[in-house]
Amino acid sequence: MLRILRIQQEILRCSFDIDVKPDRKPLSNVTLKTQFIEDFVPDAEIIESLGSPLIEKLPPDVQVSFEFFPPKTEKMQTKLWAAIERLAPLQPRFVSVTYGAGGSTRERTHETVVRIQNETDLVAAAHLTCVGASRGEVDDVARRYWDAGVKHIVALRGDPPGGEETYSPHPDGYGYASDLVAGLTKLADFEISVAAYPETHAEAKSADADLDNLKSKIDAGATRAITQLFFDPDLYFRFQDRAAAAGITVPIVPGLMPVTNFKQNANFAKRSGTSVPSWMYELFSGLDDDPGTRELVSASLAAEQVKRLVSGGVSEFHFYTLNRADLSYAICHVLGIRPKGDDAKM
Ligand code: FAD
Repeated sequence: MLRILRIQQEILRCSFDIDVKPDRKPLSNVTLKTQFIEDFVPDAEIIESLGSPLIEKLPPDVQVSFEFFPPKTEKMQTKLWAAIERLAPLQPRFVSVTYGAGGSTRERTHETVVRIQNETDLVAAAHLTCVGASRGEVDDVARRYWDAGVKHIVALRGDPPGGEETYSPHPDGYGYASDLVAGLTKLADFEISVAAYPETHAEAKSADADLDNLKSKIDAGATRAITQLFFDPDLYFRFQDRAAAAGITVPIVPGLMPVTNFKQNANFAKRSGTSVPSWMYELFSGLDDDPGTRELVSASLAAEQVKRLVSGGVSEFHFYTLNRADLSYAICHVLGIRPKGDDAKM
């Protein structure tokens, strides 16, 4: 890359040198560039890379999924459905709906998931947690999903209810996500996704113990891991290598959260144990009251992130949409995903 930049600088310098000589006929940009390349840069690969696109080789089979949260009010409901309507023609592999901390959104999650399943062509997935419910209650929720045609569960331990610092399992409940996965496989032939942590879950005894836990969830029947959000693609790649060394072979799908409101995103990230690189504070500084510029900066950052992930072989992405469509839509566009139009019911 440095070489390419140097060549581009050289082209500019060369152009300047020639332009200032009054006795010489000015050359067009193209002639000048060609002449320069012929004279000084005989390396075909470099010549080609001068015109290389942002993402050089898009995998032909990029898959995405979108995560939403259940709306609390009519207004939020309208916003959610507008987002679903915009994203549906991109034909995601599935769309999922979260389960509020402490199981607080059980009915709203259920309503939203079942409505997506019934009223669209999308494959709906329901998040389900162990928190605050007995095994019997959790099993009932899962059976209702199966009966409604919802066959994909994102199985989680869950966060404690608001106000509580530490997690304590329900006395008759599933203790951890691996127990929930095992329970679900006994109920029906669900497709099961689980959570993974490139930066290690905050309560894990060690990074290796956390990886062992991920392996237990896969061994219990999960077929996909979705990562906690992260901002530095290298964290993801290091985690993927460690997971492969630990014998984890299922896809580990990177979870990406496009930055809509940097302060909120940074707080959310910190609460989830995700590190926010210092350069991001610099990148978004001064943009608190400038949503238009913030969105442009955010889109270019996300494009850079997916470019690096794609270059490292990633072809499946999960978007934490926060019920907004635009940035996720733009990133999908960068990934070569286009609306498939007529197929979607929406
Ligand atoms: P687990 O895999 O059970 O692990 C939790 C911790 O316990 C880890 O530190 C693990 O190492 C440790 N552990 C596991 N088993 C044992 C054991 N037997 N003994 C001792 N320690 C053990 N939260 C919600 O409330 N609702 C959601 O909808 C939701 N969706 C999410 C979606 C994704 C993609 C992700 C990444 C997270 C989501 N979360 C959600 C957050 C998640 O619930 C929290 O991160 C939670 O603290 C851990 O859940 P888990 O499923 O990873 O737990």
